[in-house]
Amino acid sequence: MSESNYPPPADTQKHLFIHQQQPATASSSTTQPAAATAGTKDDSVPAGMTKLPNGVILDKDGKPCRLCTSAASWRALTKQAKSTPTTNPSTQTPATTTTTTPATYTDCPPDSEALGRSTWTFLHSLTASYPVQASSEQQSEMRTFLGIFSRLYPCWVCADDFRNWMAEPSGANEPRLKGRQEFGDWMCRAHNEVNRKLGKKEFDCRLWEERWRTGWKDGRCD
Ligand SMILES: Cc1cc2nc3c(=O)[nH]c(=O)nc-3n(C[C@H](O)[C@H](O)[C@H](O)COP(=O)(O)OP(=O)(O)OC[C@H]3O[C@@H](n4cnc5c(N)ncnc54)[C@H](O)[C@@H]3O)c2cc1C
Repeated sequence: MSESNYPPPADTQKHLFIHQQQPATASSSTTQPAAATAGTKDDSVPAGMTKLPNGVILDKDGKPCRLCTSAASWRALTKQAKSTPTTNPSTQTPATTTTTTPATYTDCPPDSEALGRSTWTFLHSLTASYPVQASSEQQSEMRTFLGIFSRLYPCWVCADDFRNWMAEPSGANEPRLKGRQEFGDWMCRAHNEVNRKLGKKEFDCRLWEERWRTGWKDGRCD
């Protein structure tokens, strides 16, 4: 979803969002009340509203959702907020206008990409350590876990999409849990579904086990 209004319409809440490849500019049409970020002058925006940068996803409470937004879009948002006067402009320190490459700190709250990378590591590792042949109890536990995960994943738009993908009416995307091989392959397909929607290259699922369990055949992970 490239644009959303405030509050986000119900149908757009279900759509997967695409991250901007370039640092976002203040040219999207996502809007929110002036009380939150006032002052951007744009004739296409109703009075009392202001635009949010591209790629900023709002949470269900209508506030920007950091865990649903890429680091680039989040930076654009905070930059916009810092440069927007919210009180008496004459008493404010002028906003800095220097454009520098932002420092990458490792101890900040995650954005949607950092959260996604860590979570995929966890999910693929879960398949890598899954039994070669799972008992019905193990299958049932994993099914329960995936159901709960797909409700609680903190990027809510991602969670909605993942849940909808799993519940595809033909049943084609239901978790395959009989054993490691089919579960690993299923997770790879689930990940590829997101890759596709984000315009990323698909992963060759024949290689999931080398990537996540055994290490590559060339020995570079040994
Ligand atoms: C359940 C879920 C849903 C998500 N939904 C969204 C969404 O709707 N919108 C959004 O913007 N972001 C979403 N994300 C985050 C997104 O998938 C990426 O994690 C994020 O964009 C960072 O991408 P990346 O290019 O660094 O690598 P990632 O996609 O995080 O991949 C990490 C590593 O996994 C390996 N890999 C890649 N594809 C596969 C595969 N198919 N099988 C096995 N290994 C693979 C590669 O080695 C890659 O470097 C979601 C994440 C999760 C866990």
